[in-house]
Amino acid sequence: MPLKPFDIPGASNLIGGAWIRGNATIQVTNPSDGERLTTIARGDVADVDAAVTAAQAARDGDWGRMTALDRGRVLTKIGQAVLEQIDTLARIEAMDVGKPLSQARADAVALARYMEFYGGAADKITGETIPYLNGYTVYTLREAHGVTGHIIPWNYPMQIIGRSVGAALAMGNACVLKPAEDACLTALAFAAIAMQAGLPDGALNVVTGLGSEAGAALAAHPGVQHMSFTGSVRTGEAIQAAAAKNVIPVTLELGGKSPQLVFDDADLDRALPFLVNAGIQNAGQTCSASSRILVQRGVYDQVRDRMAEAYRGLKVGPAMDDLHVGPLISARQKEIVEGFLARGDDLAIAAQGQIMTDAPGHYVRPTLFVDVPPDHALARDEIFGPVQVIIPFEDEAEALRIANGTDYGLVASVWTRDGGRQMRLAKALRSGQVFINNYGAGGGVELPFGGVGKSGHGREKGFEALYGFSTLKTVAAWHG
Ligand code: NAP
Ligand code: MG
Repeated sequence: MPLKPFDIPGASNLIGGAWIRGNATIQVTNPSDGERLTTIARGDVADVDAAVTAAQAARDGDWGRMTALDRGRVLTKIGQAVLEQIDTLARIEAMDVGKPLSQARADAVALARYMEFYGGAADKITGETIPYLNGYTVYTLREAHGVTGHIIPWNYPMQIIGRSVGAALAMGNACVLKPAEDACLTALAFAAIAMQAGLPDGALNVVTGLGSEAGAALAAHPGVQHMSFTGSVRTGEAIQAAAAKNVIPVTLELGGKSPQLVFDDADLDRALPFLVNAGIQNAGQTCSASSRILVQRGVYDQVRDRMAEAYRGLKVGPAMDDLHVGPLISARQKEIVEGFLARGDDLAIAAQGQIMTDAPGHYVRPTLFVDVPPDHALARDEIFGPVQVIIPFEDEAEALRIANGTDYGLVASVWTRDGGRQMRLAKALRSGQVFINNYGAGGGVELPFGGVGKSGHGREKGFEALYGFSTLKTVAAWHG
């Protein structure tokens, strides 16, 4: 029972600081071997309503009255407590979502880092004074929205809790978190850790359950004043439509088809590990996965052959074996990815990785497609599996056209030694983040993140998130 270390009673939601048993339950299985792990609550409309009410009570009570300094101290303590539980959290995550153990560990480290970062930032967001007409003093106040809703996916639960709940709490909001039904265990464990570390009752509430039930109820609840969502475009549209009814702001992070542009003058020895890892990390189930590798003709054969060699060495197996790639999250996700592989039957495959286990988990072979036309479905649609396509290009103009040629715009990277080209492309790429001679910059808790186009809108991470999770009030005083 992975939740034992935190004394969480089975199949419960955290509402107003109390663990409340759900009326119905959902079975939790291990994607590495199909074994049953535990059960979680199948939260319903009433649970969500109770959680929103508890969050509002926290806003009206101790939590809402706490100074920014004290909120920061609580978050910093939570960060410390998470650091002490890294190994336990990593094991829980590995078992629950199939993430190779060291990748799960990195997520737990990032969660702690988010709490430290937002703990330190809580008292550093200030308003301004604005020069105005004689006789007036005008200033602005940064204030919490109130109750914030957080609907998160199953691919990086700990990191996404860190970046959204961490920033929301720093600004004094009270949160209601609905994790994905396939990935609730670290969310519950984190909530337990946060309570033990001194987070006041109701500042964070967790309702587990189905997207169509608990998720939809949270998205539509009139007591929620800001919604943060990470997941698919289709669900993002539903979240934004629900938010429109209540006229509240939303932050949407909806994935991508992120390209890496490799030019003839690139440092290939440095680039190669990034090109592959950015595609297969977390079995490709990463919103910012790099699923398109655009390569200039002069180095095309070399990049293709070296990536193919890397793919042949990729080992796939149970999360606890900590290989390069674990199972996909679910049978459904495996079906989606296999559907894409089938749609690539007109394409050339340069190489595939190897599955090292007979366990009945949701495994697929990492697959590298080459010479892929930019308008092919595999070059345009988000696959969310360990699948990459290599696309050749002639020159900078063509590279840019291909790179900007999808509906998405989350992350892009440019590999070149030409300084002018680095600067030109950094401006011209339609993307929320651009990396030059790297990809992802190690995750960067400090670096604002979010998309353009169908990748969504709003920014999380870094200081920027604190503006999204707060609202600005202008005070104009006339004193003559
Ligand atoms: P999803 O439906 O967008 O799920 C994301 C979150 O939204 C989960 O917590 C989900 O809950 C919840 N949800 C689902 N329907 C909802 C609704 N009507 N109202 C409110 N909340 C709702 O994504 P998915 O079906 O798990 O994955 C499908 C595809 O989405 C993937 O193949 C991938 O392409 C993309 N995806 C992208 C990201 C990303 O990081 N950008 C993450 C995950 C998936 P339940 O899971 O409990 O239903
Ligand atoms: Mg699971």
